Amino acid sequence: MKRMITPSADSISYFQRHKNVVSSKANTVKGEPNLIKQNLQSLESAIEARYSAFESSLSSGNLFNLAQDPILAEHKDDLLSCYTGRTAKVKEIFSSIEDVQPANFLRRCPYCGITLPKTYDHYLPESLYPELSVHALNLIPCCNSCNQTKNNFWKNDNHRLFLHFYMDIIPDIQYLNVRLVSDINLCAVGAIFSISRAPNIPNNVWDVLSMHYIKLNLIKIYNELANNEISEVFNVCISHLRGGGIDVGRFINILLSSDEQLYGINHWRVVLMKALSRSDDFERAVRASV
Ligand SMILES: [Zn+2]
Repeated sequence: MKRMITPSADSISYFQRHKNVVSSKANTVKGEPNLIKQNLQSLESAIEARYSAFESSLSSGNLFNLAQDPILAEHKDDLLSCYTGRTAKVKEIFSSIEDVQPANFLRRCPYCGITLPKTYDHYLPESLYPELSVHALNLIPCCNSCNQTKNNFWKNDNHRLFLHFYMDIIPDIQYLNVRLVSDINLCAVGAIFSISRAPNIPNNVWDVLSMHYIKLNLIKIYNELANNEISEVFNVCISHLRGGGIDVGRFINILLSSDEQLYGINHWRVVLMKALSRSDDFERAVRASV
């Protein structure tokens, strides 16, 4: 799990992108003035103030305290039409997010590290903060499953519930662990993941980080996926030895190195493969099958 590159506002500000989305709407609908566009234009200064409040709460690490705006909430449908319209200007916002990420990073959902992120999560739910529906810093590429599970939740009484991938510090310290489970023949057949707080991870960082795993059921999902992943590595290792390879552990470490670089030491597959690379039982089982 790794932090993402923050989409840039250097050449076009985040608010200008919102204005571009509004301007690109048609002036008339079925021969009548487009009232949604007119309304959005009349709300421009209120929305600009919200953009600025959101950006300063992000940069000061105080997003938790950003209250909803009751007046803008009354214009929810019009505000959300900026996002749901999926115009070319909205797609430009998506590109501003995707184009700055390292190559291949978005092959996996940042929230879970498992599947392709085919949707965008509104970190601050669009039903509560509709005025931020096309703010790039409120849009995180995300898989369907995480998006649905996260739903309209984002904080409890004390802290946020999910990592914000442009803002939060994700410690480069091992906190995701795995224990391999062997069967009677000492062949690794499963894995049990867990998270544990390293002493140098501050409380406030751990509160959000650990809740992210809990709320998205990540440990349960990783445990369910582990068997397939182990069989895959098992088969690749057999082919490696059959092809003249010698060192199973070293071979697995080579396999995992690009993912480790891309997704960090706490990515579930990296953690699992490292455990396999060190497991005598796993190596014995591979050698017995060659
Ligand atoms: Zn996901």
